[in-house]
Amino acid sequence: MAPATHGGRAKCLQRLARLDLPLPTTVALSFDAVHGLAAGEQPDMAQVLAPFEDGQLLCVRPSSEDPDWGGPGAILNIGMNDEQLASLSETIGAEAAAKLYLKFIQSYSTHVARLDPDIFDDLDNSDPDAVADFLEAYEDEAEEPFPQDRSAQLIGVLRSMARAWEGTTARLLRQAKGAPADAGLGLVIQAMALGVGHGESGSGVLQLVNSDTGLPQITGRYMSQSQGRDAMKSGAGALFLQKDARGASLEEKVPDAFALLTEYAGLMRARLREEMQIEFTLENGEIHILDGVRVQRSARAAVRIAVSLAEDKIITREEAVMRIEPRALNELLHRQVDSEAERDVIGSGIAASPGAATGRIVFTAAEAQACAARGEACVLVRRETNPEDIRGMHAASAALTERGGMTSHAAVIGRGLGLPCVVGATSMRFQIRKKRIIATDGRVFREGDVITVDGTTGNILAGEPKMMEAALDDAFQTLMSWADLSRDIGVRANADTPADATTALMFEAEGIGLCRTEHMFFEADQLIAMREVIFANASADRAVALQALLPMQREMFVELFNIMGKRPVCIRLFDPPLHEFLPTDRAGLRDLAESLNLPLSDVTRRVEALGEYNPMLGMRGVRLGITVPEILDMQARAIFEATLDACGDNEPFVPEIMIPLVSAKREVELVKTRIDAVAAAVRTERARDFDYRLGVMVETPRAALRAEDIAQHCNFFSFGTNDLTQMTYGLSRDDAGRFMSPYVQQGVFPEDPFHTLDQEGVGELLRLGAERGRRAQPDLTLSVCGEHGGSPESIAFCRQIGLDYVSCSPFRVPVARLAAAQLAIKDKLQ
Ligand code: PEP
Ligand code: MG
Repeated sequence: MAPATHGGRAKCLQRLARLDLPLPTTVALSFDAVHGLAAGEQPDMAQVLAPFEDGQLLCVRPSSEDPDWGGPGAILNIGMNDEQLASLSETIGAEAAAKLYLKFIQSYSTHVARLDPDIFDDLDNSDPDAVADFLEAYEDEAEEPFPQDRSAQLIGVLRSMARAWEGTTARLLRQAKGAPADAGLGLVIQAMALGVGHGESGSGVLQLVNSDTGLPQITGRYMSQSQGRDAMKSGAGALFLQKDARGASLEEKVPDAFALLTEYAGLMRARLREEMQIEFTLENGEIHILDGVRVQRSARAAVRIAVSLAEDKIITREEAVMRIEPRALNELLHRQVDSEAERDVIGSGIAASPGAATGRIVFTAAEAQACAARGEACVLVRRETNPEDIRGMHAASAALTERGGMTSHAAVIGRGLGLPCVVGATSMRFQIRKKRIIATDGRVFREGDVITVDGTTGNILAGEPKMMEAALDDAFQTLMSWADLSRDIGVRANADTPADATTALMFEAEGIGLCRTEHMFFEADQLIAMREVIFANASADRAVALQALLPMQREMFVELFNIMGKRPVCIRLFDPPLHEFLPTDRAGLRDLAESLNLPLSDVTRRVEALGEYNPMLGMRGVRLGITVPEILDMQARAIFEATLDACGDNEPFVPEIMIPLVSAKREVELVKTRIDAVAAAVRTERARDFDYRLGVMVETPRAALRAEDIAQHCNFFSFGTNDLTQMTYGLSRDDAGRFMSPYVQQGVFPEDPFHTLDQEGVGELLRLGAERGRRAQPDLTLSVCGEHGGSPESIAFCRQIGLDYVSCSPFRVPVARLAAAQLAIKDKLQ
């Protein structure tokens, strides 16, 4: 018997039987048999019923391949009829017997005869004398007497369950949970352990761990005179299992049964190699194990359970690593909306940065900072964010934007900061000037109203639902250390600031794969100096203005190097278009004119002159490095001086310098010449030697195609898959959110290519770039530093084409480490 032919439940019950647990007689029907039943085939009932005693009551439960795909509800007490009522009244009492019959009539008429459940509305099912009324109600509605023959009842139940599974609604529901269209259903027929009657009879469930934390704790409930999962219904008056100050317990009431049940649960854990929940029944004090199901668990509990199974040597460490879905780690790394909490969803968008946070709505970065200064949590709501909003994002608890996609500004910064973020929330209306947002259902939310951004699901919720805290506990650390033992591709972090670097280190990134230096320039003091650089009329003036920036950059690099110790740090030279540093509104222009002591008209003209039709394809990256080289000279000097300052008397460490937006070999030659000159100057001034590694960001299609030329001057390439995706598709990364959902829904793109690497198109360029680059430089270090570096599917591709490492936002480092380890383990097992 296998889950693929009879379903998971049937397989599990077979294993429990082999463990000699007290299981009622059980017969399993295969997917084929059930499919035949749905199509009207007549089963051989004599054979099906042969293992059961005459008159024995039965139950039928579904057994799908994966329990999460669901299935029709179990039907209990099949075989109840007038004769059984009489004989059971003798053995278990009239009241208990009538209760079973009434329950069965009701479920049979609803699920098998498909009668309206209302027909019993006026009848009292707690009245044992009601049986005749129930039978009459059935007969009136069905126009035939209630079937008395067990075999006929059973066929009816089996066929109705088989047909329910094949109905369209059920199919769509399970497909939504990942089941294939042709998923089969098995059915398990089991002798009933009654749970009602004389002596201590009842039912319950028991598990050995807490489902939220995964820590050892005997949990579950038991209820006398009950069947199935009645004990779990709230307010049912069920008993605790273990002694409990809150009320009576099974341990006190039937200590032997309690001891035996915990022993069985332990045996199941050890032999089924999984934390199981037991469904059990006591019949006159005697235990029957009806079923075992995998304990439901939060992501946090899943990690602890896997680690403790491996620590108890029940599974291997590698198996523990394989059991955790990498993305589920997000649940541990960030605060989340509690799974039990009520969610008042007011809109949705792209889940751009996981975690959830609540706060008052603010519409500007300045208001966000003011809120933070008052110690109030706020959600920054913008049409889209730009570099000027960074400080506002630092101050906010979450960000929500109308526009944007997975790699737009808010998304990238949000992930970098670990700030929950939803972008492209086009289902809501944003009236930023009126300071309000309008929910999908028309409700209006104004500045100061409290909302919650759930960046894990992409939902926006009204108010403040209950939250679950992040849990970086010892089990998480242990699992990650085991993952690293198997991993064979490096994982670095994209980190721009000392705070990011500290987070990266906490998550054990092997280095920094991308430091976007421009983010430093948005710090207040650097921004003023940067604006002076932009407004300088001549190269000499610019050099003077840059002198003010040099020490600030150097100090920042020293800090980064000190935090990262001996780990490599890859610093990308200035990338964005200059106008991003200039104000956009009149008040900002006036302030700027004042601080530069220039007429407002001059400043306005200059700002306008810097405007570009298409800034992302304009004067940015290496193009700026060639046309305004003083900025790169300053940055190279800051990096080299910081290298010497940070190493003290020790051997200097080797910084990595990366050139953005390269498309031609000559660009690299020109930049390399300037950097070499700065390096030579610093060596002479400091009378110390040091080395550096030069690399190129391969983020234009041409750079990938001409990789063989370009690699001649490089030690490394890092694929900037954000820009490379943008340019390969001709798809703006900031505007894609507007039509990404319909595109994905209609199957134009299988996934958002800014989220999951497009292996066929962009991937082809990566493959070509890697091959051609290594043809020129066999020991060229290759990596990805676009957002794809943190996506498990994309990591598989990077590993397959032989990249040395991936680099992603610090908070995605654990996900990447785990995903990479699983790929290596999978390869080993094949
Ligand atoms: C990229 O383009 O992939 C990249 C990492 O750089 P940025 O996102 O800063 O453009
Ligand atoms: Mg880029």
